[in-house]
Amino acid sequence: MDAFFIESKDPLFGIIIFFVLVFVVTFFSYWFNKYKKKEDYKHLDNFLKQFHSLPSQNELKVLITKGELSEKSWFLLANSYAKSGNYEKCIEIYAELLKVGDKANYRETLFLLGKTYFKAGFLERARVIFLEILKTNPRTPQALNYLILVYEQMRNYKEAIEVLEPLEELKKDVLLESTYLNILLILNSLKLGTDEKVDALLKIYKSSNLLAYLIFEYLFRVNPKVAWKNFDASKSELLIDILWSVEKKDLDFNIIMQNGFLKELYSAKGYIKEATSSSVFELNILINLEQRADATLGFEYICNSCKIVFPFAFHRCSNCHTIGTSRAELSLVKDYHKDFSEENNSFQ
Ligand SMILES: [Zn+2]
Repeated sequence: MDAFFIESKDPLFGIIIFFVLVFVVTFFSYWFNKYKKKEDYKHLDNFLKQFHSLPSQNELKVLITKGELSEKSWFLLANSYAKSGNYEKCIEIYAELLKVGDKANYRETLFLLGKTYFKAGFLERARVIFLEILKTNPRTPQALNYLILVYEQMRNYKEAIEVLEPLEELKKDVLLESTYLNILLILNSLKLGTDEKVDALLKIYKSSNLLAYLIFEYLFRVNPKVAWKNFDASKSELLIDILWSVEKKDLDFNIIMQNGFLKELYSAKGYIKEATSSSVFELNILINLEQRADATLGFEYICNSCKIVFPFAFHRCSNCHTIGTSRAELSLVKDYHKDFSEENNSFQ
């Protein structure tokens, strides 16, 4: 029976105790690590949870007042909020900085707030802010430029034209801006009739030779005869999308036959057969297809200044605010209208 018991002096006893201790230490360290890892994840989850939601207005107020972050950091943060389209948070930061921020940056902060109001579509608030800047610093061209944009969006073209005066005094070239706003004033006038508008626009074009797209878009829409009579052949390529959509009955073939580009354009459209090829790739394909495929021209519009592409034609770029920089980019697309007109004809 004694053979089953090991005496404490036996060397085997020491080895067993050693393995028992190793087992106990390994067991506890395994469970301790597991518990610690779980706690770490919990801590990480709690930490990340703070960023799932944006700080509230009150939290922002406290953070900005504490002054732990520099004013430059707040500007950068506001800018990134604006870039991601969160104008509300951006406005909250600027509004708070105006209350507690460095007074040396007051005018700049006010300008940024006005710009954000404008981008967010709060035109009246933007107007008040820019006027506030100009009250103390009337020679601030940036504020004057934005005030013009605000008035233009509000369709207060007369007020926008008045703002050009101080810009002119600051030796800024306002000819294009002034021509553009005067054209908008005419186009949106409730007092002028169509013929009077046409006459006034032609007068502006003849004296300035500016903004052909804006003027001829209206002329071809309301009076194609007058548009052709006063047509400026040097602007044919600029007006390509307008010319492409003029109806066949409204075309002036005497003028078209005298202009190589117009002959190519209307041969591609299938109205005439006066060109066999074109240096413009899309027109060349359409001329050679000779209406055998349901293809037509598609248009996108690129701003020559900032290179942003828009699906619709524009007169002032909504991104960089330059005037008359829209250029049509051509592509070949399926002609759904052709299918539709053929279907309609089949019922007759
Ligand atoms: Zn642009």
